[in-house]
Amino acid sequence: MFVRPYPFKAPLGYLDTGRGQAKAPCPQTAPLIKDLYALYLSGQHSLRSLQKEMDRRGLRGHFANPVSLHGIEKILRNTFYHGQITIERTGETFDGKHEPLITKRQFARVQQIKAGRCGQKVTRHNHQFQGVFRCGLCDGPMVPERQKLKVYYRCQKAHCAMTCMRQDRIEDAILKALEVVQLTPQQIKQTQQLWVERNAQSDLDINRRSLMARIEALETKLARMTDLLIDGTLDKPSFETAKQSATFDLSQLRAQIDLLPDPTDLRRQKAEYISLFTSMVDTYHGLCCINPVRDSSRESSMVADVHEQTHTLDLQDHELARL
Ligand SMILES: [Zn+2]
Repeated sequence: MFVRPYPFKAPLGYLDTGRGQAKAPCPQTAPLIKDLYALYLSGQHSLRSLQKEMDRRGLRGHFANPVSLHGIEKILRNTFYHGQITIERTGETFDGKHEPLITKRQFARVQQIKAGRCGQKVTRHNHQFQGVFRCGLCDGPMVPERQKLKVYYRCQKAHCAMTCMRQDRIEDAILKALEVVQLTPQQIKQTQQLWVERNAQSDLDINRRSLMARIEALETKLARMTDLLIDGTLDKPSFETAKQSATFDLSQLRAQIDLLPDPTDLRRQKAEYISLFTSMVDTYHGLCCINPVRDSSRESSMVADVHEQTHTLDLQDHELARL
C-alpha cells in the first residue's frame, strides 16, 4: 500500500486545494459529515431519518441541493472519510494524504450496521430505475439486484448476451445525455428568435386574420340587407332566407376561430418548454436524488458504452427532434 493524492473532485466534507495536493477538510461541511457518522453510529437513525436530520442541519451537496437518500448511503460507504482511497472502477485501494474525518473502527462499525448484521435495520432501498429500462439486445426487462453495496440491473432472459449494468453508470450516462440535450443560453436565444420569426408569418396568424375578415364581410352584408329591407328594395321572404344563411356562416366562422390555439396558452407553453430544457440536469438531481458525492471516474468511453446499452441516445434523439 502506498500514499498518493486523490485524483478526483473532493468528496462532500473536503475542499480541493490544487492539483496533486491533498484535499482539506471543509470548515462548513466536515463537521456535518462527522455528525452524520456519529448519528448513524448511535443506532437511532435509519438512512431515511438520517437524511431528514442532515437536511435539517443544513448539509448540502453540489448545486446546493439537499443530499439524497442515495447520497447519504454513499457517504456512509466512502472509505475516503477514514483516510483510504478506493477507485470504484478498478477496486484499487490506497492510503490518502488527506486528514480523515472518522476512524477506521467507526467506519467498520457503520458498515456492520448498514449490512443489518447488528443494530437496527436500514430502510429498504427503492431501486431508482426499476421498471424504467429494457434490455437493448432482447427488449426484456432489466431487473435491479443489490450485490454487496452496489445495485446492478440484469436482463432476465436466458441466453441473452447482455451483461449487467451498474446503477451509478446508468446515472452517469443519463446525466451526460441531459447535459447534451439541455439548452445553453445561446440556444435559448436562437430558439426564441426563431419563434418570433415564425410567429410573424405563421399559418396560425394568417388563418385567424382571414377568418376575422370573412366575419367582418358577412356582418357588413347583413347590415346592408337590413337597410334594403327597410327601404323596400328587398322583400321580407328573400331577406329572411339570406339572413338565415349568413347567420349560419357566421356561427361556423366563429366556431373555427374558437378552435384556434389561444396565443396566451402558446406563450405559456413556450415559457415552460424553455424553463424545462434549461434545467434538465438540476431537475434530474431533484427528482431522482442523485448522490452529490462523486468519487468514481467518469470516462467518456465508459459512458459511451452505457449509452449504447441503455438506449439513452434514443432519449436524446427524441428530445432533440422536438427542438
Ligand atoms: Zn436481454
